Amino acid sequence: PADVETLGRSTWTLLHSIAATYPKTPSVAEQSDLKTFMGVFSRLYPCWVCAEDFQVYMQKERIQVGSRDEFGKWLCEAHNAVNVKLGKDKFDCSKWEERWRTGWKD
Ligand code: FAD
Repeated sequence: PADVETLGRSTWTLLHSIAATYPKTPSVAEQSDLKTFMGVFSRLYPCWVCAEDFQVYMQKERIQVGSRDEFGKWLCEAHNAVNVKLGKDKFDCSKWEERWRTGWKD
């Protein structure tokens, strides 16, 4: 498997991109799909220690899928929890959409 850092960067790109394209007013089916996806994701993520901690996080901080902004912020906070665990700076979650949807260069 890819190393944990490369896998992590690619995965956050995928997850935040899903948030960025998630509807502002998702249907019940779309909300259900996202919940199912994230639950399965947390069990299949191929960094096992990462996946274990992420499952615990998801049990404590229930996933928010009611709108793009709700999920985007929830995901940003989840990513920040990993940042803190790894001793990285927290990201300003008021800027998640600018980073992942409307775009800036990293
Ligand atoms: P990354 O953290 O990969 O972030 C990529 C880019 O996202 C950043 O450059 C920044 O522009 C942006 N960003 C940063 N924070 C946020 C935020 N809060 N919201 C929105 N955008 C943001 N690694 C481990 O060593 N141990 C673990 O237990 C672990 N658990 C993980 C759990 C999950 C679910 C995932 C997806 C990854 C996990 N990782 C873990 C990998 C780790 O989070 C990083 O991806 C990896 O260390 C590379 O970090 P990076 O500094 O390149 O930036």
